[in-house]
Amino acid sequence: MLRDEGPLVPLAGCTDVYVNLNFGTLPQKRFLNLWALDALRKIEMRGRVLSVGALATYTEMIRSPLVRRRLPILASASREIGGAQVQNRGTLGGNIANASPAGDTLPVLAVAEAVLVLESAGGMRRVPFNSFYTGYRRSILRSDELIAAVEVPPLAGRQWFRKVGTRAAQAISKVVMAAVRGQAPRVALGSVAPTVLRLTQTEAALVAGASIEEAREVLEHEIKPIDDIRSTAEYRRRVSGNLLERFWRETA
Ligand SMILES: Cc1cc2nc3c(=O)[nH]c(=O)nc-3n(C[C@H](O)[C@H](O)[C@H](O)COP(=O)(O)OP(=O)(O)OC[C@H]3O[C@@H](n4cnc5c(N)ncnc54)[C@H](O)[C@@H]3O)c2cc1C
Repeated sequence: MLRDEGPLVPLAGCTDVYVNLNFGTLPQKRFLNLWALDALRKIEMRGRVLSVGALATYTEMIRSPLVRRRLPILASASREIGGAQVQNRGTLGGNIANASPAGDTLPVLAVAEAVLVLESAGGMRRVPFNSFYTGYRRSILRSDELIAAVEVPPLAGRQWFRKVGTRAAQAISKVVMAAVRGQAPRVALGSVAPTVLRLTQTEAALVAGASIEEAREVLEHEIKPIDDIRSTAEYRRRVSGNLLERFWRETA
């Protein structure tokens, strides 16, 4: 249908789509409801890879023993998204496709070096999550493609996640960080640039043996936060540095 009857807007949990409809910011008027496609909802191991279907909801990820064991920071992020109602409807695929720089699962997928499985009538392709976004709310997803699943390879090291918002529930992130302290540390931030950001320069400084204070200085130059209705650039820069220090201390 996406190929032959498009353009169609895929609908998953609708928690983003309905907001856009209510604001009148969605020009398209034709939709394709994915909700009944249970094949896109599975959470399973494929060999050593954790595969999370794009239609998996936050509630399903929170309850999944596989997610909690293999990628506990995905469960942590899911617990802090919206409230119970949004967790019951909102999906991982919707969070990715919506492409907001504040999407809470995105830093998790960035440090997990996840792979997106994209499917269309023409076939399937696998794309590294870290090359999916091309700019603010832009990605390489074609209009005839669906995100089918997210694949997470084995991840060694201590995982860490922290969301900073106005409240613990029903608040969009001012800053959100996911990190892994393995042989080489991995750090990603949301809400500090047009897309989710892997902090490769900060990571390189840590690998080279920089002190956490020096790494913090690198981070503060690496991110490009802005002033908006949720926060200021100055606040975001300061809090991002605080989070880096906290990650380092708590995973020592
Ligand atoms: C009250 C409220 C609180 C919220 N709080 C948070 C929060 O704390 N953190 C956060 O990150 N987000 C939050 N959100 C945003 C939203 O809930 C999430 O982004 C959610 O994951 C979207 O998933 P969905 O299934 O509802 O997507 P939908 O609204 O159905 O779709 C979103 C976009 O993705 C596309 N899409 C969906 N699935 C696919 C697919 N499989 N393949 C291709 N395209 C697809 C749709 O066409 C659409 O463009 C909140 C929303 C509300 C209304």
